[in-house]
Amino acid sequence: MIVILKQNPDKSQLNNLVSWLNGKGIDVHPTVGSTQTILGLVGDTTHLDIDLISALDIVEAVRRVQEPYKNANRKFHPDDTVIKVGDAIIGGGNLTLIAGPCSVESEEQIVDIAKKVKESGATILRGGAFKPRTSPYSFQGMRGEGLRLLSLAKKLTGLPIVTEIMDISQLELFDDVDIIQVGARNMQNFELLKELGKANKPILLKRGLSSTYEELLMSAEYIMAGGNEQVILCERGIRTFETYTRNTLDISSIPVLKQLSHLPVVIDPSHSAGRADLVPALSCAAVAAGADGLIIEVHNDPAHALCDGPQSIRPEAFDKLAKKLWKVSEITKLGGND
Ligand code: PEP
Ligand code: MN
Repeated sequence: MIVILKQNPDKSQLNNLVSWLNGKGIDVHPTVGSTQTILGLVGDTTHLDIDLISALDIVEAVRRVQEPYKNANRKFHPDDTVIKVGDAIIGGGNLTLIAGPCSVESEEQIVDIAKKVKESGATILRGGAFKPRTSPYSFQGMRGEGLRLLSLAKKLTGLPIVTEIMDISQLELFDDVDIIQVGARNMQNFELLKELGKANKPILLKRGLSSTYEELLMSAEYIMAGGNEQVILCERGIRTFETYTRNTLDISSIPVLKQLSHLPVVIDPSHSAGRADLVPALSCAAVAAGADGLIIEVHNDPAHALCDGPQSIRPEAFDKLAKKLWKVSEITKLGGND
């Protein structure tokens, strides 16, 4: 349920309303928006008398929210959520480029790639240290040492870092990590999501391979219900009958998720396509459709990459693509998203 307040509501009446709702076991999440203040009510609101609340002097309107996700719902929070990390601003009409290798492989590799993608305009560095691989015989990531090398690349370039967590026991190693990634395979690891709800860091939540929008938003809700409101949604391709590409990029997810939720939407064209040659076209399409950012795999020697070489673009290709993406972003802003 949401309660839309009249402009400049009387403070003591507002406090009374909030305490009364709290007394009924309802959590109240106020959002002061650009045009109105909204109280988002979380809890069992079935027994609340809508007419009684609507009749209050400070109340403009009361509406039931049918969707099971509340905190992630745009009805609770009409303005876009904007997340700031280092120099990067994610959400609210900015285009943020996140780039780096699938996995951290060595100091030379991560530092070289970090410097190059920064020069091209990336404001966040990606790199996996804990890798969820389909085969137990594939490279599993450098783990703690990978995190140390990411920190070094961060120190040398100033770029904030995003990297994947696979188990909550790894969290103690994530002090210097700026954005924690939850991978597609862990999107519904609810115990992990609950723990990340207590973290004081943004979470990049990737859509599961065959998850619906509502399931993705419910996973975001798990994190937000714990108090962590800094969630970034990431579409990374879904599994369809098509096998030519690794996955199928669901472009519709961008306008749909932005309608349903206020959270930023970032697109991963690399895992969507599984092929480096398709990354530029998918990236342009995502920006044109209103994505808040892209997370792109960039490797300085894709042929010898320990993970996802075929879908990794070279730094030079990233540089060329970034220039094109700024232009697409400008044109998209001029046209709006209607
Ligand atoms: C990744 O970004 O390195 C990754 C493993 O992605 P996903 O969880 O989307 O497969
Ligand atoms: Mn990868």
